[in-house]
Amino acid sequence: MSDGFDRRYDPHALEASRQAAWRERDAFRTPALEDDQPHLYIKPSAPFTSGNVHIGHVRSYSIGDAYARFRRARGEAVLFSFGFDAFGLPAELGAIAGDELPSEWVKRCAEHMTGQLQRLGFSFDWERSFLSSDALMYRWSQWLFLKLYEAGLVYQGTGNVDWCENCQTTLASIQVEAGGTCWRCHGPVRLIQLPQWYLRISAYLEENDRRLAERRAGGTWDEVALASQEIVLGRVDGVEVDLRTSDGAQLTVFTPHAGAVSQASFVLMSPRSPHADEWAAEPAVHDQLDQLRSGGWERSAREAETIPVIDTGRALLHAGANELPVFISPLVDSRFGPTVVFGIPGEDRADEVIAQRMGLEPPAGDGRADSAAAGPAAGLTPGADGARADGATADGVAANGADAGGADLRPAVRCKAFDWVVSRQRSWGTPIPIVYCEACGTVPVPLEQLPVLLPLDIRPTGTGNPLAELEDFVQTTCPACGGPARRETDTLDCHFDALWLWVPACVPPDARADSLEDIFALPDLRYWLPSERVVAGSDSGNFVFDQRIVTKALRDIGPLAFLADGEPFAGCLFHEMVTADGRKMSKHLGNVVDPDELVERYGADTVRLAVLYAARPQKSLNWSDSAVLRCHRFLTQVWSYSQLKLAEAAERASEGDASPAAGDAKDTSEHLRVKLAQWRLAAIERTTEDMENLEMHSAVRNVMRLFERIKDFEKRVLARDGQLSRANREALIEALCVLAQLLGPLTPHIAEELWIAFGGEEHNAQTPWPGVSLQVPA
Ligand SMILES: [Zn+2]
Ligand SMILES: [Zn+2]
Repeated sequence: MSDGFDRRYDPHALEASRQAAWRERDAFRTPALEDDQPHLYIKPSAPFTSGNVHIGHVRSYSIGDAYARFRRARGEAVLFSFGFDAFGLPAELGAIAGDELPSEWVKRCAEHMTGQLQRLGFSFDWERSFLSSDALMYRWSQWLFLKLYEAGLVYQGTGNVDWCENCQTTLASIQVEAGGTCWRCHGPVRLIQLPQWYLRISAYLEENDRRLAERRAGGTWDEVALASQEIVLGRVDGVEVDLRTSDGAQLTVFTPHAGAVSQASFVLMSPRSPHADEWAAEPAVHDQLDQLRSGGWERSAREAETIPVIDTGRALLHAGANELPVFISPLVDSRFGPTVVFGIPGEDRADEVIAQRMGLEPPAGDGRADSAAAGPAAGLTPGADGARADGATADGVAANGADAGGADLRPAVRCKAFDWVVSRQRSWGTPIPIVYCEACGTVPVPLEQLPVLLPLDIRPTGTGNPLAELEDFVQTTCPACGGPARRETDTLDCHFDALWLWVPACVPPDARADSLEDIFALPDLRYWLPSERVVAGSDSGNFVFDQRIVTKALRDIGPLAFLADGEPFAGCLFHEMVTADGRKMSKHLGNVVDPDELVERYGADTVRLAVLYAARPQKSLNWSDSAVLRCHRFLTQVWSYSQLKLAEAAERASEGDASPAAGDAKDTSEHLRVKLAQWRLAAIERTTEDMENLEMHSAVRNVMRLFERIKDFEKRVLARDGQLSRANREALIEALCVLAQLLGPLTPHIAEELWIAFGGEEHNAQTPWPGVSLQVPA
């Protein structure tokens, strides 16, 4: 263009030039600690080094980046960085498929994904990003393991694992096909018990539950996130009672059906209950329990119809005369955790099936058909009518006490969430820092000997654990007695690495190699933690739940003592996923949207705006090209209209502006100017509120509306006065400049380019929010 104003929107040139400018001025470096500076840490999800950034990542990081940029635009210091979750099965499988070493595979993937994310213009502090498989980083996992072990929060037990007899290997759950068969050989998969390392989350379940109520009251945890924490916890409210056998042995039994305790016909115990061995003491019974634990059972046999049930041959006295046989079955675990529960066929279909399988007579007057009669029968005492069967009210509990053989029912809670297995029989993971010595037994590796290095030349094949076959790794000396010892060859599940993945971003890169004790003493952690907001997919509930547990553990152990409530995240936004035609995107269905292709075609700003515009974060985003087309058209119009107005203004100025001044007889549109100013202010107010609440879809709509009103203003003035007065032109440019500022966090490239064209100065990180004056760096 001869006038210097390029009316054609060329996102590729524009975005390349903005990104070069950001690199040049190191725009996203985490600001230095300044105590009087408002500051916050926004935690994005840690992506798996899966190979490619997919549209779900784009959605997640577009939301997080818009929020980070918004807070910077208001003058706050923001920490925004992440680590790649690089250990684990996806990387191992990727490496096997590509016939590569896993260490090379993850490095290549991380580099490629970093390039993709940079092309999208996300404002991460890349200097702080890392791979969880870097030795400097996984020593955090090892340190955490040892600290938790020392505190009794990591322990050895036996646990169920999926096992393929053909392949002689344990399988991750995603390697088990829908029909309960092996992904490699399609043979049957059994659940067997192996020695495993556990994380004792049970110690903090009650507090996690209690603190969730505080999160709810705080208002910065969205509904999806709150609900996910409840689902993971799996809290079941009910009652418990102590029952005895005729020879005096005692057992505490739980049920959610407070009003139906008298209708119980058996007791069901989890094989993981601490009482299981004692109750299966009879040799023939114990054989069955051993068989259940070591031989396992068909993985598909998880329903009440097929799941193993062991009769202990013992019974508890109940309601005076009734005897309740005690059975052992893993059916309990998935429903109530590793506990002991009443079997009440009249209340529960699974219990009905078990009763039939074990040949129990339904108790007189019981059964579903006449449950109306069972209600009053149960309610010999006042208040325990059928309608209250599930309500463990204090009255109901006390009233039913007389019913349960004279014992007292008391309110009780069980949780499905329970200690989980942190070890895996796989090679691509953090080595567990434990050695086994014949003289000393299980010996933790001393902290000063960390990290226990993972040999990088291991080539996994999909069967067995190559680490266990590597004698150089396995053979070691005992740190306690100096004698020969063997290393633990299980590695940590990458879910364990995720327990700390939110912390290292707070550590300045030059302090990374320090001892972890020194790192925990840094003021940086106290400055940035807790994170103001974690922004992640709604499938992150487990991660966040366990991160909350471990924060409480590290608070009590000491390193995170400054987090009094043991909560790592003050706020939490969980967004739903991106679907196509209402279905999950998959290569198999051929409905995958490729972000690279979209960026190539429309530019990064359009793609970012489209994913923000198409749905509110808490809704799944059903992909359609119409959102992309709409957003591309919008940005194209904003660009060319702004350039046109700037060109006209420049032309007027060069001619010595002769257009009518305000108050001039030819300027009869002051009321329209006032109206435009009102619209402008309303747009700022609404968009600010939207951005504060991470309602980006609404923010985009408010910005689009402002643009319509700006154009409408010009149309009306022209219809009235035939031309724009100087005051009207200034008002219009001012409104367009505000529009660019509001777009700053959403479409940062075009926004900054326009901001500069309107005479704004380049700020270090971000175009300022309207009404905010940012310091321009010297
Ligand atoms: Zn197999
Ligand atoms: Zn020893």
